[in-house]
Amino acid sequence: MINQDDQFKKVVSHAKEYGYVFQSSEIYDGLSAVYDYAQNGAELKKNIRDYWWKAMVQMNENIVGIDSSIFMHPTIWKASGHVDAFNDPLIDNKDSKKRYRADVLIEDYCAKIEGKIDKEVGKAEKRFGEAFNKEEFITTNPRVVGYYDTIKTVLSRMAKSLESEDLADVKALIEELEIADPLTGSRNWTEVKQFNLMFGTKLGASAESAMDLYLRPETAQGIFVNFLNVQKTGRMKIPFGIAQTGKAFRNEIVARQFIFRMREFEQMEMQFFIKPGTQKEWFDYWKDMRMKWHLSLGLGPENYRFHDHEKLAHYADAATDIEFKFPFGFKELEGIHSRTDFDLKQHEEFSGKKLQFFDHEQNESYTPYVLETSIGLDRMFLAVFSNALVEEELENNTTRTVLKLPAVLAPVKAAILPLVKKDGLPEIARQIMDELKWDFNVDYDEKDAVGRRYRRQDANGTPFCITVDHDTLEDNMVTIRHRDTMEQSRVKIEDLRDIIKQEVDAKAWLMKM
Ligand code: ATP
Repeated sequence: MINQDDQFKKVVSHAKEYGYVFQSSEIYDGLSAVYDYAQNGAELKKNIRDYWWKAMVQMNENIVGIDSSIFMHPTIWKASGHVDAFNDPLIDNKDSKKRYRADVLIEDYCAKIEGKIDKEVGKAEKRFGEAFNKEEFITTNPRVVGYYDTIKTVLSRMAKSLESEDLADVKALIEELEIADPLTGSRNWTEVKQFNLMFGTKLGASAESAMDLYLRPETAQGIFVNFLNVQKTGRMKIPFGIAQTGKAFRNEIVARQFIFRMREFEQMEMQFFIKPGTQKEWFDYWKDMRMKWHLSLGLGPENYRFHDHEKLAHYADAATDIEFKFPFGFKELEGIHSRTDFDLKQHEEFSGKKLQFFDHEQNESYTPYVLETSIGLDRMFLAVFSNALVEEELENNTTRTVLKLPAVLAPVKAAILPLVKKDGLPEIARQIMDELKWDFNVDYDEKDAVGRRYRRQDANGTPFCITVDHDTLEDNMVTIRHRDTMEQSRVKIEDLRDIIKQEVDAKAWLMKM
């Protein structure tokens, strides 16, 4: 068994080696927590975005997509609460001079206790064998029950102190729990302070007339301020949704863990406008729909869980995260928030414009409530990529590295390989490629022995290899090899398109929702 750290290191180095993700500005020694997507990464990212867009916009008559700009009127961030409240509590270690998020230190403390619970469960599973009842065990075993109580007490105290802005108590909690700097073990902490995460910039030519702007920290506000424009021009009736994908920027205090927490990242958000009073029903509906979307990709149900929020943001009356089991443990992948009428009401107040919906049937106007689903595209990329990377033992005592990406998301759908570089085989391979490239992103590879080429494509995540050999000259057939099973079969060249389509077409995947 390789440990979590090693697995994560493998993910990062594989992402670089196979042209998925590079450190930004690498030749200048990089820029902290900023990354570039390379030739394969850009394709994978686009495919994830398309898969989301199809499920959310194309398949839902009452959801439309927009693309609002990154720069917005600065008052928007006053109205949204970001200027005053988009803060993270930070704490410095006086000895190591390292900076941490105070809430993350406490959450990591609880995650460690969760690790202990997992260990107890594992031991008991071994001891009781078939007769083991996990539910009963975790609710009755005194040690495990004690662990759960500790987690609950710690998290609810943290939630309370953060909510009441009692930062001294957050520090007291860190001290009481004897939390040490994870890098050095030092417990010499500063006070906890609030730190605003928005990046500022300026618009305008001269210093005097320049206007202070922010780079948007979320895409949602671009949807709220366009609510009425879209509703009117699209003749949308409640309930309806507006979706968008795009860049967001946050000056994160600690940005480690590769593309999990970046300073420039991409979100895929959908705001669903509903009648007040129906928010509970829609919250449950979107929780269910979003989980189904995740499960449709086949990364394994055991890798997902919901985490309902104890501490609610200033705008929410209910919130949950979909957490995914990343190489460093379960962490937030997507947030689902019941935002009430907070945002629209705030924009009404700050802009002085009415943002209401006129319900013809009821003959009344009201400010809709909002249900939001918000997922980080880069986090989804990391979820898919890290889950896909496996090291497989083969029968002949060798291993192979395979990137088992869901075929619908794989950057390259098929590689066309002439067995040798002569006898007319490359020409046929090129013809096949020229035909298939109308429908799929395909690759041509003639270098090295065919076995090595298979391995290279496995590691690259390509679902199909198509080999042209001397028999092809006679029978117009090729060998198609499947990445995951390594099974090979002989098929007609003219059938290739349909065979590949069956496996990579979004329809077949989304039908599993
Ligand atoms: P976290 O608690 O991890 O900081 P958040 O609760 O602040 O996340 P939201 O504001 O709800 O996140 O944003 C919605 C989604 O955007 C998150 O679920 C996550 O997938 C993504 N996201 C947020 N911040 C970042 C970041 N710095 N880098 C990459 N993705 C991010």
